[in-house]
Amino acid sequence: MKVVIIGGVAGGASAAARLRRLDEDAQIIILERGQHISYANCGLPYYVGGIITEESNLTLQTPQSFYERFRIDVRTNTEAIEIHTGDKKITVCNHNTGELYQETYDKLILSPGAEPIKPNLPGSDDNRVFTLRTVPDTLKIRAYVEQNKPKSAVVIGGGYIGMEMAENLKHAGLDVTVVEMAEHIIAPLDLDMASLVQHYARKNGIRLILKNGVQALIPTESYIEVQLSHGTLNTDLVLISVGVKPETFMAQKAGISCNARGAILVDEHMRTSKPDIYAVGDAIAVTNFVTKQETYIPLAGPANKQGRIAADHICGKNSSYPGSQGSSVIKVFDMTAAVTGVNETNARKAGLAVDKVILSPMSHAGYYPGGKVMTMKVVFEKETYRILGAQIVGYEGVDKRIDVLATAIHAGMKASDLAELDLAYAPPYSSAKDPVNLAGFMIENISDGTLKQFHLEDIKTLPLDGSAILLDTRTPEEYERGHVDGFVNIPVDVLREHLKELPKEKPIYVMCQSGLRSYIATRILEGNGYRAYNFSGGFRFYDAVMNDHCLIASATACGMDQA
Ligand code: FAD
Repeated sequence: MKVVIIGGVAGGASAAARLRRLDEDAQIIILERGQHISYANCGLPYYVGGIITEESNLTLQTPQSFYERFRIDVRTNTEAIEIHTGDKKITVCNHNTGELYQETYDKLILSPGAEPIKPNLPGSDDNRVFTLRTVPDTLKIRAYVEQNKPKSAVVIGGGYIGMEMAENLKHAGLDVTVVEMAEHIIAPLDLDMASLVQHYARKNGIRLILKNGVQALIPTESYIEVQLSHGTLNTDLVLISVGVKPETFMAQKAGISCNARGAILVDEHMRTSKPDIYAVGDAIAVTNFVTKQETYIPLAGPANKQGRIAADHICGKNSSYPGSQGSSVIKVFDMTAAVTGVNETNARKAGLAVDKVILSPMSHAGYYPGGKVMTMKVVFEKETYRILGAQIVGYEGVDKRIDVLATAIHAGMKASDLAELDLAYAPPYSSAKDPVNLAGFMIENISDGTLKQFHLEDIKTLPLDGSAILLDTRTPEEYERGHVDGFVNIPVDVLREHLKELPKEKPIYVMCQSGLRSYIATRILEGNGYRAYNFSGGFRFYDAVMNDHCLIASATACGMDQA
């Protein structure tokens, strides 16, 4: 069997190695247009910032090492130009020699990836304007920074790559501005969760300009003028990172079915519409694991797994790809933001009836030094309590919790099942009730009516005409430091003594700092015959989102002073 693989990085290299492990006799050829195979795309921003110091650390394999270990024929600087599906041939160009030749295949795997979207911006061909996808792109940016010592950079697009590059350019000593057309950075997060990251990025010296688009770049000798829809910026360097598009021109020309955005359509075994041709990675459309709708999720984890599945299927195994959850994580300075499944906005767009819990648990036991508060949002389906997605923003322990939640979503667990997970605990690592368990307890309480909630978006519709009682159950000191208009202060510990002042027929909306004391207050009230609703996320969340105030990162349990 002769298998040709187009593209030798995440999906392609994975497929090749798996093929060899399953079939010692197959002839395996990788055609890679660039100089490198199996390189660390995800590490590229950190080379620009000087965190990864050695260029050699960016390349995980070389054609030689791949040959020695796997006896795979890796041809770099070699581009597949055309696929002839009828007679199972590929026209190939060896860029080292300029030679054009034909290569036959029994099976073909396409893993050509995606290319950065380059909006049609006047001035974007200037040599101080960059995109980032490959090792040579990275070397170019780093060399420019080292040789020309630019003082400022404008990053167009506040997605994962844009924010990673913003941090790394800052590390390299530049003043960085991120311009984002949408309402918030990092699209997989909801606006409320993204605002926590935005605040932290600003605190670390990144200037964020939101809801503003770049119209043109006007290069002058000494700087580039960046013309925005509203205003202009002068800068020494521009990075365009407004997303990627599947690199499927050749596949489309060969008649392989693609969707409107050009992503190749595959079945669960990664087979395309043409016989014996598979496709994986950033070039393909995937099924969203949660909504079951077709989507595009260009990430390294899925690309690697899909490569493995294509190889399995070629070798007679029945592996199949269940869809992508979009699990992802980003470091923004010392902060970590992570996502799995769908966010609330997209779940609603997909027509799902959703609810959510927002909690602020500690990364580990409060009495053990060094714990940090994280903000966790778990989105679930209203009637079924199926977990749809989760977002966590915090410091330590965020990655571990998002992976537990990703596993739970994959396993099709109900949100209330999270309460039962038996998770490892010792004080330096977690609490006896892990944050994931806490989310489960809250959802379980919602499902049986023990907890009734109201959310940030409900605040503006709360009646201020006296027909409802708005109660803040924090200490008077906390209340004085800041509260939501209309809320009166009765600390939870003296609530029982004040019940006579509260008319029973009125609903009571209760808030505290993180949601725990107000929950206890709602239980006291319900136990005394009132209808009480708990504010999800607490004043801490309200304050951080609404006023972009500093997210309290220190380890303080609910009820203690949070100076
Ligand atoms: P690629 O890895 O891009 O490989 C495609 C290869 O195909 C390229 O080398 C290209 O030269 C070659 N090729 C294309 N056309 C041809 C042709 N006609 N002939 C021969 N060769 C061809 N994902 C994460 O999950 N986490 C992260 O932290 C993360 N960080 C990232 C940071 C950066 C800066 C970038 C650029 C990407 C990041 N990603 C991350 C995304 C991740 O790298 C991709 O999802 C993944 O590499 C996709 O794998 P792939 O095999 O589809 O494409």
